[in-house]
Amino acid sequence: MLCAVANGGPEEIDAAARAATDAFAGWRETTGTERKRLLHRVADLIEAHGEEIALLETFDTGQPIRFMSKAAARAAENFRFFADRAESASDGLSLPAAGHLNYTQRQPIGPVGIITPWNTPFMLSTWKMAPALAAGCTVVHKPAEWSPITAMRLAELVHEAGVPPGVVNVVNGIGETAGRALTEHPDVKAIGFVGDTRTGRAIMRQGAETLKRVHFELGGKNPVVVFADADLDRALDATVFMIYSLNGERCTSGSRVLVERSIYDDFVGRLAERVKRIRLGNPFDPATELGPLIHPLHLEKVLGYVTAGRQEGATLIAGGRCPEDAGGSCPENAGAGNYFEATLFGDADRSMCIAREEVFGPFLTAIPFDSEEEALEVANDVDYGLAAYLWTRDVTRAHAFARRLEAGMVWVNSENVRHLPTPFGGMKSSGIGRDGGDYSFDFYMETKNVDIALEHHPVPKLGKG
Ligand code: NAD
Repeated sequence: MLCAVANGGPEEIDAAARAATDAFAGWRETTGTERKRLLHRVADLIEAHGEEIALLETFDTGQPIRFMSKAAARAAENFRFFADRAESASDGLSLPAAGHLNYTQRQPIGPVGIITPWNTPFMLSTWKMAPALAAGCTVVHKPAEWSPITAMRLAELVHEAGVPPGVVNVVNGIGETAGRALTEHPDVKAIGFVGDTRTGRAIMRQGAETLKRVHFELGGKNPVVVFADADLDRALDATVFMIYSLNGERCTSGSRVLVERSIYDDFVGRLAERVKRIRLGNPFDPATELGPLIHPLHLEKVLGYVTAGRQEGATLIAGGRCPEDAGGSCPENAGAGNYFEATLFGDADRSMCIAREEVFGPFLTAIPFDSEEEALEVANDVDYGLAAYLWTRDVTRAHAFARRLEAGMVWVNSENVRHLPTPFGGMKSSGIGRDGGDYSFDFYMETKNVDIALEHHPVPKLGKG
């Protein structure tokens, strides 16, 4: 056991929702300039405690420290980015009509619920919370039960920064009890949710009675499509990074690599060499590239896909084992923790579950293709539509292919490089709505139109005989 945390339920959620409701009037009326100042102060404190946050995150999740130190910096950036937009969050449009002036303005929707998963939990808490606060909403946050620690630390830093009591409330608890109560609470106007697609469906049902506005960032089975004309060295680096960084526990991971057949053997051979050399080990060691998976149940799920891949007839090229049965590839940790080798399956086809379902671990499935049309069909032939990665030097093909890909985000000749004003989110079973830049404010705010008559236009007269 790492530590004990409170197990909040409906009562605690209700207390938090009432605190958020009481604080809403004051926070809504706080000027954008003041909200900006306070949110920058939160970012300062996150930076000042960056090392501590990174260590806590590694301790809680098993994510290698080399990635977690960057997660704290990104979390501060999330607060700074939305802090700078707090003053303009309510800006609207001028839409003049004949004899009337119409203008829009945005107003915060009210107290909102934020429910997050266990992968990079601190970064995700800030990604959802910062725009809500900049918009003038108050927040009840329910972090994942497998990674409860850093959300509490975030709440402490927010309060230390001077954000008034009740504006941010964190309740740790189980999804089916605390999470459910939050999604059903009548005072909570919207739910920003990041997590599994099945949970998204449950939340939609739970929120129906109170007509909750929902924003869903869900799962993915993101294709990396490598054409023979690509810069194959860079494509290789990015392919390895996008599935084996962050333990593969990453919604935008490139978990299927589709490789043009003429280069398939060579590319997958080089891939295998790299995968076998990925350093699995103690997540606190800066040299470690792959840490233990977060939970024995998650390890069990990932191992289930190894069995499935074998049964379906794909070729296990690398990994697939825990260190104990891997003959001590990770001697200092053998027998302990949820260590699982970086894994690569090849010769898969699109019908296999390892090519269709989200494994959410360091697990890559390679699939050969013969034509551009086939690559597109395979890329799109899954329920998900979050991200896609395309490697080619042919500019025309890149644009045409990107247009036809069913994905909310497409990177061409790049790994996932985020620019915070751009929309982040997925199509199909990968989500509803977009985060980032102004898109976040559209979710956390109501748009109101005000119409003012400029002249004495004829008003219809009834009841005059
Ligand atoms: P999960 O859906 O099991 O849990 C997410 C959160 O929902 C947790 O806080 C959990 O307690 C809560 N929850 C569970 N049942 C609930 C219910 N009935 N009502 C309300 N809340 C409930 O997901 P997970 O296993 O923690 O996270 C992994 C998933 O998150 C993956 O599918 C991954 O792709 C996805 N994810 C998506 C994005 C994105 O931006 N699209 C980002 C990160 C993770």
